[in-house]
Amino acid sequence: MAKPKKNSNPEQSKVYLIGGGIASLASAKYLIDDVGMPGDNIHILEQDDILGGAMDGAGKTETGFVVRGGRMHEMHYECYWDLLKDIPSYDDPNVSVRDESYAFNKKFVSNAQARLLRDGKILDVSSFGLSLKDQTDFLKLTFVSENSLGNQRIEDWFSQAFFETNFWYIWTSMFAFQKWSSLAEMRRYMKRFIHLVEGLPRLGGVMRTKYNQYHSVILPMKRYLGERGVNFDMNTQVTDVDFNLSADKKTATVLHIVDKSGTEDEIVIGKDDYVFMTNGSITESTDNGSWSRAAVLKDKSSSGAWMLWEKIAKKDKAFGNPGVFSDAIDLQEWYSFTATMKDTTFHDHMENFTGNVDGTGGLVTMTDSNWLMSVVIARQPHFPNQPDDIKVFWGYGLYPNRKGNFVKKKMADCTGEEMLQELWYHLKVQDLMTPIMDAGKINCIPVAMPFVDSLFMPRSPGDRPDVLPKGSTNFAFLGQFAEAPKDCVFTVEYSVRCAQMAVFGLFEAGREVMPMYDSIHMPSVLLKAAKAISS
Ligand SMILES: Cc1cc2nc3c(=O)[nH]c(=O)nc-3n(C[C@H](O)[C@H](O)[C@H](O)COP(=O)(O)OP(=O)(O)OC[C@H]3O[C@@H](n4cnc5c(N)ncnc54)[C@H](O)[C@@H]3O)c2cc1C
Repeated sequence: MAKPKKNSNPEQSKVYLIGGGIASLASAKYLIDDVGMPGDNIHILEQDDILGGAMDGAGKTETGFVVRGGRMHEMHYECYWDLLKDIPSYDDPNVSVRDESYAFNKKFVSNAQARLLRDGKILDVSSFGLSLKDQTDFLKLTFVSENSLGNQRIEDWFSQAFFETNFWYIWTSMFAFQKWSSLAEMRRYMKRFIHLVEGLPRLGGVMRTKYNQYHSVILPMKRYLGERGVNFDMNTQVTDVDFNLSADKKTATVLHIVDKSGTEDEIVIGKDDYVFMTNGSITESTDNGSWSRAAVLKDKSSSGAWMLWEKIAKKDKAFGNPGVFSDAIDLQEWYSFTATMKDTTFHDHMENFTGNVDGTGGLVTMTDSNWLMSVVIARQPHFPNQPDDIKVFWGYGLYPNRKGNFVKKKMADCTGEEMLQELWYHLKVQDLMTPIMDAGKINCIPVAMPFVDSLFMPRSPGDRPDVLPKGSTNFAFLGQFAEAPKDCVFTVEYSVRCAQMAVFGLFEAGREVMPMYDSIHMPSVLLKAAKAISS
């Protein structure tokens, strides 16, 4: 089957991007800047009233700030930094988001001094604690082919003892892999991020943005694209896509849409037009609780992304198997929380205790917490509208269905207040923090994320559609559930790479998809990683 002929006449074409996350925003940017498509030929159809998808960040002092998650980046997010090199930053139109981030990370270098705790005390992580068998298992994993692993789980490969090592605690809390996650994906991570392995115990090489990623990345992107005429069709959910499917050609023909009031409509895809769809999403069906209310665990029925992919997947086997990723919420869900404090006691305590000023420590994981709780104190302010005397931190628990060690309830059933009570217990700061809680100076918003680990579910080749399925004449899949060979999911890099693959694959852009940083073939990197793994 021939590759689609690349379009060199972009003025005649419209592109409909389903979903307003970074994958679509990146596609729009490349279409304008590299393909030469007029911005107003581009429509971003977003079901919510806000852009950014997983990259959120909102709130104010009175009601509390909230981020569902915070992103760690690294220097070799080649596509992501390429995307952001031309985007003026939130604060300064003369400095790009990339350059602002580079300067920020030069100033606030990630160097965690208290990565793992047990019984409230900092653990020595100078050794990963891997046995000879674990080390050999690692080596074997990097040598076998991905296809030979099929849909095995991590626990199928490693011994039970592996899951009690410093290495595993660092790994699972940093990337949110579970024992039952995809072994093939773990292999990709080992190979793709081998240059970071040596620094893992102190989160070396991890880069952050100045503020949360909604303000530091999404808003600047929105401004850039908006100034170039891109249409943001908000509150517009795509409920189905019609295709013309033949043996050698697949063509999207109609989008079925519905707005918030329930009004249904259709968009007919013209003969020169295109559809890019972000299939599946890890932040679908999330729910925010409050100080006094637990977040509600919702399911697929409230998710535009999963429902749409399920409908499409039934039409052609090249469109993947969404159920593999979304059918077992109990294996994918976890909960996060964001605390807003009108008091600096906790912040000051953590700076003293960890030896890290805010923004340099990153994850602090309580290894004896039943929920496997971690907290992160980002550089303050984490939000542009956050006053100096207000401190914000984020935390999460990987096992929300276990009862807490202090609060004898599942994390999933806990209010924001109860989550903090459990945290104070692990950090041994109950006496310090109870009076501040009692004085009403703290707010905490829990968030339920039913699909957050869905991208790590064990998968087989073909479960994720190719970005450009064979025979596609005018459509592409984007995001965490499209197949970008060798790259790793749960990263913004992956979504931007898909955007490059889609745009440069379908249009004459005069450039190619950026190569991945190939550290696995660098002897000096391998030597350092081997030394770290055997220490
Ligand atoms: C808690 C958490 C921590 C993370 N940590 C990191 C990290 O440390 N490092 C890192 O690199 N990445 C991290 N990520 C991952 C990263 O943020 C995401 O992978 C990435 O942002 C996904 O972008 P996307 O555009 O592919 O999809 P999404 O952000 O999921 O966007 C999809 C969009 O499409 C919309 N949509 C879906 N279906 C429809 C429909 N039918 N019609 C209309 N609109 C629709 C959704 O509302 C959403 O806005 C983290 C994510 C989370 C949630």
